[in-house]
Amino acid sequence: MVGALPKYQNSLGHIAKVVMPMYRTKFLYANEWELVHEGGQTLGNQWFKYSVIREKTNKLGFDLYVVDINGLLDREKIYGYDDDRERFISFQLAVCDWVSRWQNVPDIVHCHDHQAGLVPFFMKHCYAFNYKLANVRTVFTIHNGEYQGQFGWDKYYYIPAYDTWNWGGLDWNNAINPMASGVKSSWRVTTVSPGYMEELRHSARGLEKLFEYERGKCVGILNGIDTEVWDAETDSYLAKNYSIKSVEEGKVANKKHLCEQFGLDENKPLICFIGRLVGEKAADVLPGGIGQSIYQNGGMANFLILGSGDTAVEEELNALAQRFKGIVACYIGYSEPLSHIMYAGCDFLLMPSRVEPCGLNQMYALRYGTVPIVRNIGGLKDTVKDFGADGGFGITMEQSSAGDIAYSISRAISLYNDKEKFSEIREVMMKIDHSWDVSAAAYIKLYESVI
Ligand code: ADP
Repeated sequence: MVGALPKYQNSLGHIAKVVMPMYRTKFLYANEWELVHEGGQTLGNQWFKYSVIREKTNKLGFDLYVVDINGLLDREKIYGYDDDRERFISFQLAVCDWVSRWQNVPDIVHCHDHQAGLVPFFMKHCYAFNYKLANVRTVFTIHNGEYQGQFGWDKYYYIPAYDTWNWGGLDWNNAINPMASGVKSSWRVTTVSPGYMEELRHSARGLEKLFEYERGKCVGILNGIDTEVWDAETDSYLAKNYSIKSVEEGKVANKKHLCEQFGLDENKPLICFIGRLVGEKAADVLPGGIGQSIYQNGGMANFLILGSGDTAVEEELNALAQRFKGIVACYIGYSEPLSHIMYAGCDFLLMPSRVEPCGLNQMYALRYGTVPIVRNIGGLKDTVKDFGADGGFGITMEQSSAGDIAYSISRAISLYNDKEKFSEIREVMMKIDHSWDVSAAAYIKLYESVI
């Protein structure tokens, strides 16, 4: 989202820039950078130096700044370290310090997830920054409410000086909770789909009451997809490119390619799963659901799974593929090229997720003419309508259970055999517009409502 939204906002005539930590990723080494600012801040009693560098060519369609702090942010992984708390608080301090030195401050600072959740509080209440930034409007977007970044008040000294009666702006359940603070201190809160915003009021790892109380400033805006990257007519990873007019031949060619590679039968419906093999995605019920379906339907469908995550699930899926050779295949790992050809070559995409704030896979699938089989939750609920309903085009299920998966697969097989309905649905799906143009305009409207 942060890589796409600003590009579209700029094309609408605004100036959107992005600042993020300088992780030591491939992207960093593959591009040219220039130093734009150097400064220092203190985290508790530790002084640290930071630098801000900018990507020189503007190839992303917006200015990208990255903040480097030696010993803290210069790591390969984005998160998952023991000192993540120190890393992200330092990053937020550096950003507030840098922005407070700009001659013209921005109209809006838009923060994403708990790693940037303290920024609205810092800007509003901390003396080091509020003399300049207190009136800058802030928007906070929640991509995943499961991760809140909370820590004990024993680390109170990490927060720069502020009027202590404002401590409530940091607190939730006797801890400093950056996600709760972002919700309390910003002017508007968004989630990446309207359905997910609703669900947070009932299930938000302890923050339910906060979302209920703050509902007046909360809104769900569905993410878009990058329609330049995800375009079956030009996608260079495909065995054959296709448009809405040539979808039948195009999908057959890509399916043939996949079936040859994985030893599957191209005459059977091909159902795939792409994603992290974790509980949130209900990957643990996949083996049971697929197994049950094979017994119920006598191996009438083929399955292809791409993903990595929990070792136990990976092992179970590998075992399933061994047991049902020619019916189930899996690729444990991450492969961008394979994912593209799977969206193109498969007939159905399975997403039985337990939690899905937005979900991109189902939107890619729709655009590539692949029928999504999804659980009726979060962003999936907002983007997929069951084919049984008027104007519907997908298959929905109520629970992330093996039984629901197997039942949905039976429905998928019947749909696949009804060639006329199947091709009618493909056309409906491929015409749906989930481009960023729509979401970018919604965000601009939201910004304007607080300026
Ligand atoms: P989440 O961000 O919760 O993992 P999303 O649906 O929002 O789920 O985005 C997942 C993205 O990652 C999709 O673009 C999907 O194609 C991609 N992806 C996930 N796992 C893999 C994998 N093993 N190989 C290639 N792409 C993957």
